[in-house]
Amino acid sequence: MNIHEYQAKELLKSYGAPVANGVIVLNADEAEAKAKELPGPLWVVKAQIHAGGRGKGHFKEPEAGEGGGVRLARSAEEAAEQARAMLGKTLVTVQTGEEGKQVGRVYIEEGADIEKELYLSVLVDRALGKVAFIASTEGGMDIEAVAEETPEKIVTVPVEPSQGVTDEVAEKIVQGLKLEGTAAEEGKKLVRALYKAFTEKDMAMLEINPLIVMPDNHIRVLDAKVSFDPNALFRHPDILELRDLSEEDPLEIRASEHDLSYVKLDGNIGCMVNGAGLAMATMDIIKHYGAEPANFLDVGGGATKEKVTEAFKIITSDPGVEGILVNIFGGIMKCDVIAEGVLAAVKEVGLSVPLVVRLEGTNVEKGKEIINNSDLDVISADDLEDAAQKIVKAVKG
Ligand code: GDP
Ligand code: MG
Repeated sequence: MNIHEYQAKELLKSYGAPVANGVIVLNADEAEAKAKELPGPLWVVKAQIHAGGRGKGHFKEPEAGEGGGVRLARSAEEAAEQARAMLGKTLVTVQTGEEGKQVGRVYIEEGADIEKELYLSVLVDRALGKVAFIASTEGGMDIEAVAEETPEKIVTVPVEPSQGVTDEVAEKIVQGLKLEGTAAEEGKKLVRALYKAFTEKDMAMLEINPLIVMPDNHIRVLDAKVSFDPNALFRHPDILELRDLSEEDPLEIRASEHDLSYVKLDGNIGCMVNGAGLAMATMDIIKHYGAEPANFLDVGGGATKEKVTEAFKIITSDPGVEGILVNIFGGIMKCDVIAEGVLAAVKEVGLSVPLVVRLEGTNVEKGKEIINNSDLDVISADDLEDAAQKIVKAVKG
């Protein structure tokens, strides 16, 4: 789960990280009063969307004016004007794709003078099996490009879970950032604060790009991007409250309400499967036979008939779906339950696209019987290869 920059900053501030004062503007009427809460002389107006690259982005609507989703202003009035211009408009950045994202919230912040822009992030390094810090002197730009062109300017510092951030770890990171004096002392404090926030809140990723050094050699978190491990959200009700549903795909939200994992993709074959591994295999074989998956919906291990029905409805309400492949391996899940769920759903919502069902495992004979005895136009398949060929053929016509 992702949160907005202003929410991330508020959270990090509660752990002692240096962030600027700011105000969040949710509607145009309050923009000026909010901007006046900040003393100036510099205001930064920042579109809040769950995507980076806002500064270099552009708005689709000409009324949003010149410039991207991060703008500097020299007066409260000007800041308010910029905030009003951005609200409700569509911001396109390298991360949003061409369709862009609608700006529903604008953050206005006390601006800083920047001496240096640095990069600092925390993530779970799967290869090392540890939380690791990534630090670089090349902040404010695309870190992937830095990794590509000047990998020697990036340092990775893993943290031993039993020891946490030791003096040595903190020292290595501030050296990687080339911080000195006051900035180095503040940097070490920041590293400890970030590690505490990361582990306590079960974050999956925390990225500060840029972390800045100001002319007085103090540091500040200028941008913050945080995502959380969805499997741990049950123990963080405070974090769950920060969820902004308008940033998420409506069908993915509906699926999560029914405890289903649904991922929207770009192709035209909808896939209902059980288990992430089978989902991957199903998508691979669809691609192998020359088509592209429109989504995958994982009904999980022990789904009920109702859950399967809901899953089917979600897949059919995706307008990109021109054919459906149900591929279930019944272990704990029973094939007859799947078959009944699919039939119930088809009866309820109708079926306007070809449907191929491949069942294997527990109660497979019963499941096939239910499918074959129904008067619905369902194509039965014997194995994964057969199923993929049949659905690709049906969709291509
Ligand atoms: P992003 O483009 O979505 O990553 O948004 P950022 O928050 O990283 O802002 C983009 C850029 O705007 C930064 O790299 C800075 O160069 C600039 N910027 C942001 N805040 C300030 C500020 O307080 N003062 C100044 N001078 N520039 C800022
Ligand atoms: Mg940034």
